[in-house]
Amino acid sequence: MSDLFPALHTATGRTALRFGERALTYGQLARAAGDLAARIGGAPRVALWATPTLETAVGVVAALLAGVPVVPLNPKTGERELTHIVTDSAPAAVLAAPGDELPGALDGLERIDVPVTPAASATPVPASASAFGEPGPLSPALIVYTSGTTGPPKGAVLPRRALAVTLDALEDAWEWTADDVLVHGLPLFHVHGLILGVLGPLRRGGEVRHLGRFSVDGVARELAGGGTMLFGVPTMYHRLAEALDGDEKLREALAGARLLVSGSAALPLHDHRRIEAATGRRVIERYGMTETLMNTSVRVDGRARPGSVGVPLRGVELRLVAEDGSAITGYDGESIGEVQVRGENLFTEYLNRPEATAAAFDGDWFRTGDMAVRDEDGSVRIVGRRATDLIKSGGYKIGAGEIENALLEHPGVREAAVTGEPDPDLGERVVAWIVADDDRARPTPEELAAHVAAQLAPHKRPRTVRFLDALPRNDMGKIMKRSLRVS
Ligand code: ATP
Ligand code: MG
Repeated sequence: MSDLFPALHTATGRTALRFGERALTYGQLARAAGDLAARIGGAPRVALWATPTLETAVGVVAALLAGVPVVPLNPKTGERELTHIVTDSAPAAVLAAPGDELPGALDGLERIDVPVTPAASATPVPASASAFGEPGPLSPALIVYTSGTTGPPKGAVLPRRALAVTLDALEDAWEWTADDVLVHGLPLFHVHGLILGVLGPLRRGGEVRHLGRFSVDGVARELAGGGTMLFGVPTMYHRLAEALDGDEKLREALAGARLLVSGSAALPLHDHRRIEAATGRRVIERYGMTETLMNTSVRVDGRARPGSVGVPLRGVELRLVAEDGSAITGYDGESIGEVQVRGENLFTEYLNRPEATAAAFDGDWFRTGDMAVRDEDGSVRIVGRRATDLIKSGGYKIGAGEIENALLEHPGVREAAVTGEPDPDLGERVVAWIVADDDRARPTPEELAAHVAAQLAPHKRPRTVRFLDALPRNDMGKIMKRSLRVS
């Protein structure tokens, strides 16, 4: 447990990290991170300016070696939110790549440059570099701020145990080994990009190949050049799906990958289907969140069904709780309940928010706020978030996701989001926000309503349709439904 990354000591000659032209072997990473760990050891907490660079990866490994809790900062965060995060988490210093310009919000913090080339005299640092007491399983490893999709970001305190448990459960579900080379184009300040995408391969002794910035060509090149896995968010798979038409190189690269994994938000059925039709490969979805790390995944030895996020991972207990508080028993594919989870994958608390922490738990069960159903084989289908995706209309409970999926199947629709708005007759009314494929040939609201009614059921049809140039999305490509309101 104390040793999150055994490969730092055993796999010294193998490549650990590759960011474009720059790469480190495990031996080089151990020395660079060891140097930095010795420097920051004993600090109560550090922040990390999490650009998509080698330095960010070295910085997080160093903090874990030193047993110093680290707060990854999104470099695109605006001044106000950054000030909120820095005030809330009170780091002693900020780790950054040499030459990176830091914003004014970080002025009060000591800056520590992350050395990627270790000093020649540096001695390799032992499994735990901490001279300040061995960190235990419940010692905080990272404080990761949630995406802020539903409200201001909250700092989730993640213990070392949660990292080990979640990464090992994914090893089990995905048959993840030291031979895997992960093609990675995600940002490095959230669970997906940093914990799964960087710490995951390092825990296995495999390789990370980061694209710096996601591009369709980069994915095709790296998968064709030895990459075995791809992690992406739905917006990335959407771009791949769009590009597949006519791009034989991309088609071959995706068809040859061992594993294509999507998460952070639901992958629309339309994109699932297009990718499978073109490549013969199914994208595997996994479901998790900042507070719980990973909860479920489609297993490589299981059945990947579009729309399913698979089964609970090893060590994760999952239950669905109906609105009246009773647990849903039996898997009927219909009864909707809130997903609640417990296990060693969970965070310990929201930093400085005892009330929010208490409200998030029912005993030791964490309330995710996500609504789901379970199919007969036990696999989970996410219906959406309780707060924004469950519309109560005319006595029915309607999930926004399935209406979005239906709308996206319409040839005139490029992007779709569905919300509920108060309605005097229905309680709530289904509202569709649409980005048209061609603005000069927008489908009519009547046409879209008829399309949904024919595919799903008449009561699910949108009563109001609003056209936009683009949907509001955050850095992970998630739709920010709280901004979808008529002003
Ligand atoms: P905030 O908590 O600040 O409002 P957030 O919930 O978007 O933001 P994250 O912890 O990054 O912050 O995201 C977790 C959420 O993402 C989950 O609760 C779930 O709603 C959604 N999610 C993740 N993976 C999937 C998936 N495969 N399918 C559907 N939804 C998913
Ligand atoms: Mg959340």
